[in-house]
Amino acid sequence: MKYEAVIGLEVHAQMLTDSKIFCGCSTKFGSEPNTQTCQICIGMPGVLPVLNKKAFEFAISTGLATNCKISPYSRFARKNYFYPDLPKGYQISQYELPICEHGFLEIVVNGEDRKIGITRIHMEEDAGKNIHESTSGGQGSGNYSFVDLNRTGVPLMEIVSEPDIRSPKEAAEYMKKLRELVRWIGVCDGDMEEGSLRCDANVSVRPVGQKGYGTRAEVKNINSFKFVEKALEYEIKRQIKVIEEGGKIIQETRLWDSNKGITESMRTKEEAHDYRYFPDPDLVPITVEQKLIDGLKASLPELPDAKRKRFVSEYGLPQYDADLLTEEKSTAEYFEKALEKAVEELVKLGVRIDLKIVAKIVANLIITNIFKHLKEEDKEINETPLTPGHLGNLVSCVAVGSTSITMAKTTILDEVFKSGKMPEVIVKEKGLIQISDSSEIEKAVDEVIAKNPKEVERFKAGDEKLLGFFVGQIMKLTKGKANPQIVNELLRKKLS
Ligand SMILES: [Zn+2]
Repeated sequence: MKYEAVIGLEVHAQMLTDSKIFCGCSTKFGSEPNTQTCQICIGMPGVLPVLNKKAFEFAISTGLATNCKISPYSRFARKNYFYPDLPKGYQISQYELPICEHGFLEIVVNGEDRKIGITRIHMEEDAGKNIHESTSGGQGSGNYSFVDLNRTGVPLMEIVSEPDIRSPKEAAEYMKKLRELVRWIGVCDGDMEEGSLRCDANVSVRPVGQKGYGTRAEVKNINSFKFVEKALEYEIKRQIKVIEEGGKIIQETRLWDSNKGITESMRTKEEAHDYRYFPDPDLVPITVEQKLIDGLKASLPELPDAKRKRFVSEYGLPQYDADLLTEEKSTAEYFEKALEKAVEELVKLGVRIDLKIVAKIVANLIITNIFKHLKEEDKEINETPLTPGHLGNLVSCVAVGSTSITMAKTTILDEVFKSGKMPEVIVKEKGLIQISDSSEIEKAVDEVIAKNPKEVERFKAGDEKLLGFFVGQIMKLTKGKANPQIVNELLRKKLS
């Protein structure tokens, strides 16, 4: 029998607010344990929570970016359970009236467009952290556990998808898309390692063609894209095996163990009614006015999908380039600024070049050369001396032929990264001006042809690939300064 997987993801995203969701304590990560707490977030009796306005706006913005409807009326509920990292004995969350509902995200998997529904987005508070003394050679005797309440009350959004996901690969793509979005609009840093983006997955399998759902297991503790795929692949196989061996899937919560590469049963899955949800009497219901929604909508940046589409249609970039340039908002903005600067300079010089050609030169320099520099120096694009103004200047130098693209990519870029000097200054100082004088290039062409009679023979016999060899030799001889177009023309003429 053939089976298919039915997967829904619950993603918790820590919101990038300075203070917690119901009190003024700092949300800064990595401080000494229990130094960022107050009576409210440690749940002293009689204290009253007050909703953080920024967290509320972040949740709405996320809803707008994921095509959700914003509820005009929503409220908080208490989710009751006991755990040492939850001093109040309940978590303030949203239950029957979440802030956002009925959205979707579009992903592309194996060239196929898929639309994944988003059931709801609700706000809630994070719990603290239990720290267990190491039992295996680390610090302490292993007899004690500690509680750090710095994280208690840090604002979270829980983004719940519909069970629309059909494969581990789709799940990973959905996660990537979601992470890109929350980072793009600045509501979450998306750091999965530090736990600011966490993912639980509800997984079941069913025979292909069956309408109803099988019994599902919830897999927790998935904290990287790689593990989203691995954990789900494992869990799907496990469930199919159980069913094929005549067993039954039980509804339970399972933990992903990335070291062993397996999921393990943690507890039987609780139902919503186990939590005895009820409206939180300490917090007033929230009404959202259309004016506020409109304002937040207007302040959203152009979203990555829209930007990608525009880079292709407006600048004629290949999809591949558009994808790479929009992986980070800062890169996309950098690209457009550099392009604007290049065009500005060219207009000033009275040079008219098709925008699409200039765009492709800028894109190529960023993707093939600047990314390499950034990786080597472990820096973000905005942290280097190479401003969009520098790049615009470099491109205009190349476009008007005052230096070669080879020089631009190598010596000049290196020098800008080192000194922050303007490319046109570097070109002058280092004498990197491109040779476009045919007679000078011809000398070099003749010299290379004379030196390589065997290759000339082979070329004439039909080995066209050797053209690249000749160009390389001439570039070497002219220290990369020869205008490649003229080199090509002369070579072809002389060798034919
Ligand atoms: Zn507090």
